[in-house]
Amino acid sequence: MSYLSHLECSYCRSTFDAEKLHTVCPKCGKPLLARYDLEHAKRSLRKEDLIGREASLWRYRELLPVHNDRNIVTLGEGYTPLIHATRSGARLGMGNLFIKDEGLNPTGSFKARGLCMAISRAKELGVEEVVIPSAGNAAGAMSAYAARAGINAHVFMPSDVPLPFRMECAAYGADVHLIDGLITDCGREAHALAEKNGWFDVSTLKEPYRVEGKKTMGYELAEQFNWTLPDVVIYPTGGGTGLIGMWKAFAEMQELGWIDSDLPRMVSVQAEGCAPIPRALAAGDEFAAPWEGAHTVAAGLRVPQAIGDFLILRAIRESNGTAIAVSDDALISSQHAMAREEGIFACPEGGATLASLEALLDRGEITRDEKVVLFNTGTGLKYPHSS
Ligand SMILES: *Cc1c(COP(=O)(O)O)cnc(C)c1O
Repeated sequence: MSYLSHLECSYCRSTFDAEKLHTVCPKCGKPLLARYDLEHAKRSLRKEDLIGREASLWRYRELLPVHNDRNIVTLGEGYTPLIHATRSGARLGMGNLFIKDEGLNPTGSFKARGLCMAISRAKELGVEEVVIPSAGNAAGAMSAYAARAGINAHVFMPSDVPLPFRMECAAYGADVHLIDGLITDCGREAHALAEKNGWFDVSTLKEPYRVEGKKTMGYELAEQFNWTLPDVVIYPTGGGTGLIGMWKAFAEMQELGWIDSDLPRMVSVQAEGCAPIPRALAAGDEFAAPWEGAHTVAAGLRVPQAIGDFLILRAIRESNGTAIAVSDDALISSQHAMAREEGIFACPEGGATLASLEALLDRGEITRDEKVVLFNTGTGLKYPHSS
């Protein structure tokens, strides 16, 4: 069972019935977040109860939004390895460097975490057709879970999207539309057809449950480190769902009394060709202005404007963290270093985390004795054009 109690707007705090289908807040247009009866959960669920449960993100069942087991659509996502990066660490003079390898998820990226949850809840609430504008991994993950759920999937991708992403969606039986334009053009097109045909849009943070799937990365970090947290988490940020989700998970675990250590400093990494978050952080802004002419090989970071920008900036500031941009050359070279040194063929976005760590060590913003976790968010195998 689930302790899901209601939905709450992340901005204006209005509350809504979680048993109805929702997109963004009807009052202010910002993301809705799932809230749980943590008082009750605290009394009846102990972290020791997790021992022996299945090695997937569903081990946190009660703190996830799906009520009926019958509606769980799973491919075994989550509970990915947290690897001690001894050789990259030795090169950098660090004894406590770790890589959370999300490339091992179904469909090869951590998008599986969010989309398994969105599709499970969509199924629970009676949705029959879903749509997504995506430049890559999100479309593949949505198509796979929709296939498993028997829900029709519609995908809108820029026509220059790398072949593996396109092939994958078609293989899962999705209706694939290639659009001559950018991801924003795909978004417009998808939105128009969704309105017309009554399809449910599962764009990130425009429905409340993808972030619930991604928050499990925070629960896993705590559990895999025996209920302590690292000093620093470095996260390659596009829409920011994972960073927002982990920050939410840490707050929930504090309320549950599962952790009492200090929370990690959250570091958001973007590419120099699309860096709205570092720019807004430096300017002291609450929201991030859209980035003009966004370009980077790391497609997951090519998000010129994120609906959850203020939540990303809030988490960074509350955690005393930072945001940094790295060049495409640096992120590709770190992607290669991670493969040679650790046997992990990361996606370019994952490479960006290692590149940013080197820059932050040089600046003295991270010290060599700290415990640092890099998120490799996907496999390098889907980017034949950039490797
Ligand atoms: C989507 C994606 C990201 C960005 O994730 P957000 O949670 O939206 O910030 C990073 N890396 C890869 C490989 C992705 O597919």
